[in-house]
Amino acid sequence: MKKIARYLLILVLLVAGLLAPAASAGAAESIRVVSATARSEFPARITFDLTAEAEAGEIVAAQLLYGATRQKVLTAVDVPLTPGRRIETRHVLDTEVYYYPPGTALSYRWVLRDASGAEVTTPPAEVIHHDARFSWAERTERNVTVFWYQGGAASGEVLINAATAGLDRIAAAIGADLEQPVRVYVYASNADLRGALQANSVDWVGGQAFTDLGIIVGAIAPGDVAEAGRLIPHELAHQVLAQLTDNPYGGPPPWFDEGLAMHAEAQRDDWIDERLEEAARQGRLIPLEALAASFPADTDQALLSYAQSQSIVEYLIATYGADKVRALALAFAAATPVDQALQTVLGRSVDELDAEWRATLPPQERTVVPTPVPQSAPADRFAEPPVGVPGIGVGSPGGSGFAGVPGWPLVAGALLCGAVLLLAGTGALLLAWRAAATKGR
Ligand SMILES: [Zn+2]
Repeated sequence: MKKIARYLLILVLLVAGLLAPAASAGAAESIRVVSATARSEFPARITFDLTAEAEAGEIVAAQLLYGATRQKVLTAVDVPLTPGRRIETRHVLDTEVYYYPPGTALSYRWVLRDASGAEVTTPPAEVIHHDARFSWAERTERNVTVFWYQGGAASGEVLINAATAGLDRIAAAIGADLEQPVRVYVYASNADLRGALQANSVDWVGGQAFTDLGIIVGAIAPGDVAEAGRLIPHELAHQVLAQLTDNPYGGPPPWFDEGLAMHAEAQRDDWIDERLEEAARQGRLIPLEALAASFPADTDQALLSYAQSQSIVEYLIATYGADKVRALALAFAAATPVDQALQTVLGRSVDELDAEWRATLPPQERTVVPTPVPQSAPADRFAEPPVGVPGIGVGSPGGSGFAGVPGWPLVAGALLCGAVLLLAGTGALLLAWRAAATKGR
């Protein structure tokens, strides 16, 4: 999830408004702010309280401006008050409706007007929407802060090591590091995590990245080194790439974004190569051009999309090097169409790159035509399992796509990041995740 939309309040203003010089002439003396505070009670609400006095006349209007500090927009709310020399008013922001993830820093200021029309604007202040239901420990390295509350210092060591190792792999792949801080909130269970996500989130979501806020939330059981090494680097890669390519007009195609994120993970899952080679032999690989749009909703095709994305990005890194991969990312950020970006940076069209990469995989096998089956089977036909029957192994592999894949909960987990939320409606994935969740993840 990359953008958090907030529609219902009245106005959206540029954050420059926050930085505007306070007060119009004369008003600074006419209105005095006694107190302006904000109190966060995650996940329910943030309460903004204001007390102000007018030297002469009455205060007749109060407007609250607030917004996530990292986002470039503010929301304005006209807060009701009873006009008078001294006013006390309050705005309660229901953060279960207007969701902000844990750790979001919000900036706010008030604009007050008296009966003469003079206005005063309070200096900007900040409130952190901290999840105070847990007592968090934290560690910071290289612009990443991990927060956790179970497992003591050993847990923190696992988490921060996963983060820095991930950043190393990302830097080696694309020559970029975090330019802005990222906060990673690690809940100890899916149940705890669910209480921190938006109320209408599907209940199998194992983690979420908010690249525009620099926040990652996820569930990792204390001491689960493998999951820490998967989830944290994957989501950090999305953050590094989002910061590198921050531009309202463009961005990298999903195959590039997800491929880099998969590459950043500590361990390469076996299912990636198995799935790729099988698809190559069966002539089922998805054209690279198609992976520049949203990934398919079908579970099997979605997994293949991730596998191909990782493989192509790793091919780019190995063949062309981190400088070219970084140049590609910057071309995508400048809204250069994918084909043109590849042509400019690599001298290849999408189809040429696709063909080059496919040549690293097994060739497509010729379809075997099954031997005609006799009309009446011999008496011993089913005495033994058939061996070497032509045609078996060709065509659809069947099954759910997860069956027979070692470590398939990891497969489901690998999909649980921003881009794949598009797949929320996919029944198979939902069932797969539920099954994984009941296995103790
Ligand atoms: Zn991802």
